[in-house]
Amino acid sequence: MDERIKAELLSIGTIDVEESLLPPPRTSTAGPGMGLQCIFFKSGSLRVRLEVTKDSPLTMVRKNNHVVIVRENQEIVEGIVEEVVAHCPDQVYITISERCIYNCQFCSVPKSKGKIKTRDEILTIVEKAKKNGKLKVISLTSGIAVSPDDEIDRVVDIVKALAPYGVPIGVAVHPGKDSSRKLKDAGVTEVKYSVETMDPDIFDRVCRGSKGHTLEFILESLREAVEVFGKNRVSSNIIIGLGETDDCVRKGVDYLAKMGVIAVLRPISISPLRKEELKTAVRPGPERLLKLTTMTREILEKYGLSPRESQTMCLACTGCDLTP
Ligand code: SF4
Repeated sequence: MDERIKAELLSIGTIDVEESLLPPPRTSTAGPGMGLQCIFFKSGSLRVRLEVTKDSPLTMVRKNNHVVIVRENQEIVEGIVEEVVAHCPDQVYITISERCIYNCQFCSVPKSKGKIKTRDEILTIVEKAKKNGKLKVISLTSGIAVSPDDEIDRVVDIVKALAPYGVPIGVAVHPGKDSSRKLKDAGVTEVKYSVETMDPDIFDRVCRGSKGHTLEFILESLREAVEVFGKNRVSSNIIIGLGETDDCVRKGVDYLAKMGVIAVLRPISISPLRKEELKTAVRPGPERLLKLTTMTREILEKYGLSPRESQTMCLACTGCDLTP
């Protein structure tokens, strides 16, 4: 698979999978794609994560020892289905609070009102991965059950319990007061605080009603995070498809990179729970993804940043994005 083919697959984002290839029923409990069944496909050095659904133009079928992805009766690419450790291949990626007091329109977590995993439940998942010889990286994410500061305390407590495993730990959360210092002291390797969009008007529209949830605070927290964690250890998602212009994305990626933050350009996933609110959202086509990724690569090089250094979370996984 080359990046052109990956961009095409990502722009569709879904696939119909032959029954015998499907891993045991498993739905994502992390991030905006929460609640959807997914499959990881790898070909050469590239990986893509696709949502499994019957009404996709793409189909995955078995061919000898491999699988192929087919579109309109034409084979596009051959590869393998990857095994998932917990949420993604090679990482134990766990959502702590499957609920959120904020209500960003692109995210299904607030709609799910799911559970809050206890420290013991998380230790059980990690211990199982260790027993199976699959514990290389731990990544944690969380909605906000009570308040951002309370959530950071919950994450810090869990990270302290996980630190003795001695593997890199990544954390993707909403920042709180002094969150970077607290997380670093607990044993976190890398953090992600997502701006989601660098267009202030879109931010206000999609995150409206979320008191205290401001772009300014996230940017300020990202600046602090780079001071605490250092270069190549801080990232931030920018969703592509909310109505932002390419120029806005370019300026946003540049602004973040200048302060030492790597932007993760994430094609929007429109959850069935959010269809009504996201009527104007459009998943980006392959050309746009390639253009924005090339642009991001150039900007990161200009500021001496490299996603290759990342050890945890999405920059290490690469399944959902056309990572530079
Ligand atoms: S890229 Fe990120 S969200 Fe997507 S599967 Fe990998 S770790 Fe999960």
